[in-house]
Amino acid sequence: MSSLGAEIRDQFPILQQEVNGHPLVYLDSGASSQKPRSVIEAIKHYYEWDHSNVHRGVHTLGSRATDAYEGARDKVAAFLNARHREEIVFTRGTTTAINLVASGYARSVCGEGDEIVLTPMEHHSNLIPWQQVAKATGATLKYIPLQPNGTIDLADAEKTITDKTKIVAVMYVSNVLGVTNPVKDIAAIAHRHGAVMLVDGAQSTPHMKVDVQQLDCDFYAFSGHKMCGPTGIGALYGKKELLENMEPIEFGGEMIDRVDLYESTFKELPYKFEGGTPIIAGAVGLGAAIDFLTDIGMDRIHEHDTHLAKYAYERLSQIHGLTLYGPRDNRTGLVTFNLKDVHAHDVATVIDQEGIAIRAGHHCCQPLMRWFNVNATARASFYLYNTEDDIDRLVEALKHTEDFFNSIG
Ligand code: PMP
Repeated sequence: MSSLGAEIRDQFPILQQEVNGHPLVYLDSGASSQKPRSVIEAIKHYYEWDHSNVHRGVHTLGSRATDAYEGARDKVAAFLNARHREEIVFTRGTTTAINLVASGYARSVCGEGDEIVLTPMEHHSNLIPWQQVAKATGATLKYIPLQPNGTIDLADAEKTITDKTKIVAVMYVSNVLGVTNPVKDIAAIAHRHGAVMLVDGAQSTPHMKVDVQQLDCDFYAFSGHKMCGPTGIGALYGKKELLENMEPIEFGGEMIDRVDLYESTFKELPYKFEGGTPIIAGAVGLGAAIDFLTDIGMDRIHEHDTHLAKYAYERLSQIHGLTLYGPRDNRTGLVTFNLKDVHAHDVATVIDQEGIAIRAGHHCCQPLMRWFNVNATARASFYLYNTEDDIDRLVEALKHTEDFFNSIG
């Protein structure tokens, strides 16, 4: 049994409270994770001691803030094993990072007859930007079909990706199924056809060691708030040669080199993509989150989160009338389910009365919900501060919910 949750739970102030008269059980980290004291303190320290604008100031606070911001970039680069620090562009999160590639890269390389390949399990953030590119350029969207258990078969990827493919965009870990997709193999197929590969890393980066060089993906996007960092910060990794040829999509201060009345030139990487005052405190917080996760060890976190998902799957599958979605194995950190004849929102509302926080809805994956033939599901998602006890509390609460609805039905 993994003891990580019990060991580090104390470091998360928010988890120490009671909700509706019960100790809080937070099982919604797939939507956003909680923050350890070290991250909260790093942001506080930054504002109390070091804050100023970055890059321009010659005064001491200006250089401290710049060092903190650029130091965070180094941490992200090392965390993802990027080859160069300038391959890391700070963004507001995964959504903004994918939109940057869609608008700055895809719109100039896609045209009539070209294809963009996705999967039906994509989060709306890795779906709608590509729909917009298709509309604007005349390119066509194609989908690698899912196996009946919600996984991807590489033979289907081989069939779907062709010489017409310009971009393949796939999530590494599904925020609904919990499955880890074979993005390294899919990237290799994409490259054989001259296409570029973008990986949506929102749900993988918090839970496993990521090596962008080993994956050989061209772009990789993630959000800080799902990995113990603050909201409002994330990053896009892009291979240097691609980013160099990619157009900025936001223009203004910070991203320019020389400005004349009718023409301007832009800065080198990564600054040409970071127009305006950047998200300095967010980057500082993200850097502290990376330190926190690295100290624990991503392999240990992965083992813990995988173990909890397996434990939850086994315990939930014993509840009569509960349907679990996605495969039994190969899940990282979450389970998705429905109780027979009870709407997922009702399940989440009832168990909130016992202090248990789970998510209900379409999880920004409406096409996947339609593929399951449901409008909504409940989802319990785990992170390094959760324990088997949390899952036992969830199971008990679900049994109470089932009894309650049976008694009134
Ligand atoms: N992709 C996946 C797989 C996600 O889980 C999420 C967040 N739930 C996103 C993209 C979007 O991330 P954000 O809202 O932080 O931009």
